[in-house]
Amino acid sequence: MSIKTFQVAIVGGGMVGATLACLLAEEGVSVALIDAGDPAKTWPENDYDLRVSALTLTSVKLFKSLGIWADINKLGQQVMQKMFVWDHFASGELLIDSADAGEASMGSVVENRITIKALWNKLQALENASLLTSTQLLDFESSDDGVTIQLSDQQIKVELLVGADGANSKIRELSHIDDYGWDYQQKALVATVRPEKPHQQTAWQRFLPEGPLALLPLRDGLVSIVWSSKPETTEGLLALSEADFCRALAEASEHQLGQFELMGQRAAFPLKMQFSTEYCQQRVVLIGDAIHAIHPLAGQGANLGLKDAASLAGVILQAKLKGRELSSQQVLRRYERQRKADNLLMMGVMDAFKHLFTADETAIQLIRSTGMRLVNKSTALKKQICRYAMGLNN
Ligand SMILES: Cc1cc2nc3c(=O)[nH]c(=O)nc-3n(C[C@H](O)[C@H](O)[C@H](O)COP(=O)(O)OP(=O)(O)OC[C@H]3O[C@@H](n4cnc5c(N)ncnc54)[C@H](O)[C@@H]3O)c2cc1C
Repeated sequence: MSIKTFQVAIVGGGMVGATLACLLAEEGVSVALIDAGDPAKTWPENDYDLRVSALTLTSVKLFKSLGIWADINKLGQQVMQKMFVWDHFASGELLIDSADAGEASMGSVVENRITIKALWNKLQALENASLLTSTQLLDFESSDDGVTIQLSDQQIKVELLVGADGANSKIRELSHIDDYGWDYQQKALVATVRPEKPHQQTAWQRFLPEGPLALLPLRDGLVSIVWSSKPETTEGLLALSEADFCRALAEASEHQLGQFELMGQRAAFPLKMQFSTEYCQQRVVLIGDAIHAIHPLAGQGANLGLKDAASLAGVILQAKLKGRELSSQQVLRRYERQRKADNLLMMGVMDAFKHLFTADETAIQLIRSTGMRLVNKSTALKKQICRYAMGLNN
């Protein structure tokens, strides 16, 4: 049996890999998008995905340019206009309004499965896209004339292999690309709740001694929480009855949104900082969580990955336009140069924030509260922070 060939194989059909597939396939590149799972096509009404992302304005604009925003809007999204950050220790607080940066919103909060469904809907209509689901990459071999990929159910051959296969990337491992980082010794508890008071299209974030508690505005007046704590605290919160958990949440958020009603399950994810300094090798390149996993405290992980996808698509399509090889080291290194500084800067900032806001020392706590109060009084600084949070920093 002859093996199928494509110009590009993307392993990982999450938000990042599926976005790259759309960007390439709609410009005439033949793409195989491969995923071990099969993205959800339907779900019951009033059922909410626990995995939620605050998408920056830059990410929203990318989805609008792909023509999938109307689909996301129909399936459900929540505009985010403001961000309110406050501290457990003293009177440090900060209110950022998208109007500070002259924009109507900072972005939107969308359940991951909604974004993924909209991307896959688009891919199904693109003749250059082949969707290979419920199959895993097991191995690959790269040589001067292409990459032979062994999937669990077939072999394929491509010019370029893209690893968008997440934080435990098999492609990174098989390429012997090192990853660095550390475990935060924290877990993030996620849940969807109905608040007593309206969320006011605001992302609420309180810095608690063990980690941040984020309350993101979600469609239908709901709120998606990401509560980072020591693993044993998270286990304790998961073990509480629904009523006791809602009481603990109301207390931890200082009743800003009143009482809560839990909608469905709670789940927890271990948190780590992980990054690679090498993004590519012969005919192989990595994007998204495969090269950077960061603390969710500012909700930037997926947004960084989407920038990777846009940058890689840009250099590949430029090479195509000039009739050059899509997978040359020159092309892949150009992508690496474009993205590395931005990724490392964001990771450094998030890591510093994490340490600043969980420090026990009284002096640091005082500096932090005073700093927040000073920033809150400075329109220029708030505008800068707002632009950064919107993904408009470059
Ligand atoms: C609690 C929490 C909250 C977060 N909140 C935000 C937020 O508000 N905003 C934000 O921007 N980011 C947020 N993030 C980060 C964001 O979820 C990730 O950065 C993003 O989902 C990464 O997308 P990805 O496509 O790179 O990888 P993934 O979503 O991990 O997708 C990888 C895909 O690869 C497939 N795969 C893996 N191995 C193989 C294989 N061998 N063969 C075939 N397929 C394979 C998997 O099935 C999967 O579909 C949050 C993360 C957490 C944990």
